[in-house]
Amino acid sequence: DRFFKGTTKTRERLGLVDELLALWSLEDYEESLEELEEVLISADFGPRTALKIVDRIRDGVKSGKVKSAEDTRTALKEAIVELLTARSHSSELKLQGRPAAVLIVGVNGAGKTTTVGKLAYKYGKEGAKVYLIPGDTFRAAASEQLAEWGRRAGATLGTFREGARPQAVIASNLDDLRQRACKDPEDVYDLILVDTAGRLHTAYKLMEELQMCKSAVGTALQGQPDETLLVLDGTTGLNMLNQAREFNDAVRLTGLILTKLDGTARGGAVVSVVDQLGLPVKFIGVGETAEDLQPFDAEAFAEALFP
Ligand code: GDP
Repeated sequence: DRFFKGTTKTRERLGLVDELLALWSLEDYEESLEELEEVLISADFGPRTALKIVDRIRDGVKSGKVKSAEDTRTALKEAIVELLTARSHSSELKLQGRPAAVLIVGVNGAGKTTTVGKLAYKYGKEGAKVYLIPGDTFRAAASEQLAEWGRRAGATLGTFREGARPQAVIASNLDDLRQRACKDPEDVYDLILVDTAGRLHTAYKLMEELQMCKSAVGTALQGQPDETLLVLDGTTGLNMLNQAREFNDAVRLTGLILTKLDGTARGGAVVSVVDQLGLPVKFIGVGETAEDLQPFDAEAFAEALFP
């Protein structure tokens, strides 16, 4: 199973959990819990989230619910599922507008364009009329890549203008769509996916630019985008927490998409991002083809960490 492979890095370290649990005893549980906390921290859960998880297990011990190593293991998985689903149990996107608009942000290489393509394919297959806006105006290749995904998904690619300001390209595409809809009320898209740039070396400007991109969508559609999703490379470990924080501060995210979980990903960090920022994971990417997008399933994720 490709998804299982996706959390190998974390699992290697979490192999230590098994060793710990083998030594678990009700008398010395405090010592085991402290070691467990260390293991979780080294497996990218981050200190705050690791502490939270261990506290929950400790509560379980005190209330008499956790009595054995096996109970500890179960409590550990339950705590992770709880943290992952605290804000949202559904991975469905909230698409209310017609057209609905989804802004996709993330650093270069995270898998934004691929994810836009996969989403176009998914919603297209479900019968939606999908329009793609190439908002990464700095790389002509990004637009070509998006065009290819659009062809595969049966989605329409908006106008690309290399070197233009992304917010201007977004605004003019949305303006075109509005004018078309005025002329012909049937000519309306169900879903607009906006790809954006993610050049890190000019990060200070990137965040401002993304704010303007979000405003451009908001102004044209007279409201916020239905979703503002951050695409995170699942292999980046705890670094993804800082990245997510920065993007969230700039454009107020509504959810996360985690890519490359078919590679050697670092699953523990995901729990930390969800817990610290209160953002739901909507989808996971498990490969490079259009069909390699899955709804996020917290229980399957916890199970993959502790099979
Ligand atoms: P962008 O710069 O954020 O738009 O990133 P791209 O969409 O161009 O993706 C960067 C690379 O990651 C490409 O080679 C993609 O094929 C690859 N990629 C994206 N998502 C996944 C995934 O879920 N699994 C794997 N294995 N590769 C992925």
